[in-house]
Amino acid sequence: MPANLRPDKNPMPSQPPAQRAHNFDEVALGYDEAAALDEAARCLHCANMPCVSGCPVNVHIPAFIEQVRSGDFEAAYQIITQSSSLPAVCGRVCPQENQCEARCVRGKKGEPVGIGRLERFVADWHNQFSAAAPVRPAPNGHRVAVVGSGPSGLTCAGDLAKKGYAVTVFEALHLAGGVLVYGIPEFRLPKRIVQQEVDSLRQLGVDVQTNVVIGKTMTIDELFEQGYEAVFIGSGAGLPNFMGIPGESLKGVYSANEFLTRSNLMKAYRADAATPIWKGGRVVVVGGGNVAMDAARTALRLGGQVSVVYRRSMEELPARREEVEHAMEEGVEFHLLNNPVRILGYQNPDDPRDPKNGCVKAVECIRMELGEPDEKGRRRPVEIPGSEFVMQADVVIIAIGTSPNPLIKNTTAGLEVNRRGGIIVQEDTGATSRSGVYAGGDAVTGAATVILAMGAGKTAAKAIDQALMG
Ligand code: FAD
Ligand code: SF4
Ligand code: SF4
Repeated sequence: MPANLRPDKNPMPSQPPAQRAHNFDEVALGYDEAAALDEAARCLHCANMPCVSGCPVNVHIPAFIEQVRSGDFEAAYQIITQSSSLPAVCGRVCPQENQCEARCVRGKKGEPVGIGRLERFVADWHNQFSAAAPVRPAPNGHRVAVVGSGPSGLTCAGDLAKKGYAVTVFEALHLAGGVLVYGIPEFRLPKRIVQQEVDSLRQLGVDVQTNVVIGKTMTIDELFEQGYEAVFIGSGAGLPNFMGIPGESLKGVYSANEFLTRSNLMKAYRADAATPIWKGGRVVVVGGGNVAMDAARTALRLGGQVSVVYRRSMEELPARREEVEHAMEEGVEFHLLNNPVRILGYQNPDDPRDPKNGCVKAVECIRMELGEPDEKGRRRPVEIPGSEFVMQADVVIIAIGTSPNPLIKNTTAGLEVNRRGGIIVQEDTGATSRSGVYAGGDAVTGAATVILAMGAGKTAAKAIDQALMG
């Protein structure tokens, strides 16, 4: 059958903006079978497979697309899962436009093949029609501990459990999934998908222990004393950065992590939730990454009138284009080339938030222009003297990045970290400076992506297996 040479991707059906701005249901609804078959026919099955080299875990893209085209969706799923253990997640949140799809030859004269959309279709089809309980392998007699249940920890645990290791995952929060449950909102990644992955790990025999903070409840040394022969640290980069400007301790100022955790994990948007969250009002989100977009769109769904303040221009804004477009369609305003210099507060005895210490009233910003490129090649934002102005605000959400939490480093002798707090590892194994301890994901790289964290979990699982089994 000849390839479908239409230049554009099959569009992704989605909830209309006016409707989705008022609910937390998933925005993108996914391809149906007809759209998936049609999109699969756009692949040219290039002999040199440039798309595969764009994927950090080298999913065999043309092979799975070929199976979609022939209608064997389960075979397509089996091909994807040889390389990626969370295809329903990656199909939704991978920055495909910078990875697999960026290298697709169809992108030269039109839009690339919708690889992520096809991956999501295949994974959802499998979960709906074909998912069978995983078979628990025979135990091999070795025990491994995994710290953190984000994509790196879940992948490492899954790969080791499939080889017969007795794996225990220790998670600080009360629910497993890492950023996939506490950070990325339901309207981008439904939590049932992450839950399915955690459930299938449990069926493989992985023991997931929540509410255990390694470094406080127990140290890494104590894990070895308890008989674990190797430890994988996948504790992420959950420590929020702040700007260091006056007013950041006023009531009504949140880090994006806190705001999103309250909404996603603690369900603060529900009327019956025990955790409070600010609903409505004027919300200023500072930052331009995916986290800023998620915070802005969450605040909008909570009834806020939301402005994103970013110090560079749209061209440099690091969030995925798709997320920026969705945010704009839903009504988020963008104030580019502006930077906050001060958060202004007021004391009001009637304000239930904090009558004594003061609450947010406004944000003073300064206008910026772009100067010379920095070391990464991005043009540096430079303040325009005398251009200060004030934006009224009830809530300020700071989304300017996160760092690895130093707790584990501070309680583990011999664990070396770099100047940003990332654990130093050998790239090909994930081995740290401490014998028997491996690490991967954001705890090593700083805030990155789901697929890179999964890749690191896979690498470490392989190295742990080689070290323990020879
Ligand atoms: P995490 O997912 O951070 O998981 C670490 C886990 O370890 C957490 O559950 C934490 O509670 C636990 N932990 C920490 N310390 C301890 C301890 N001492 N003891 C026990 N447990 C501990 N990436 C994308 O690819 N696409 C996106 O669209 C995208 N959107 C994002 C949106 C938001 C709001 C955020 C915050 C991140 C986003 N990312 C996205 C980045 C991506 O989610 C991360 O790169 C990825 O989750 C990192 O995985 P990880 O396993 O290293 O750590
Ligand atoms: Fe593309 Fe991500 Fe799938 Fe790799 S895992 S093929 S980067 S969507
Ligand atoms: Fe198909 Fe694009 Fe990959 Fe070529 S580069 S094999 S067209 S997905």
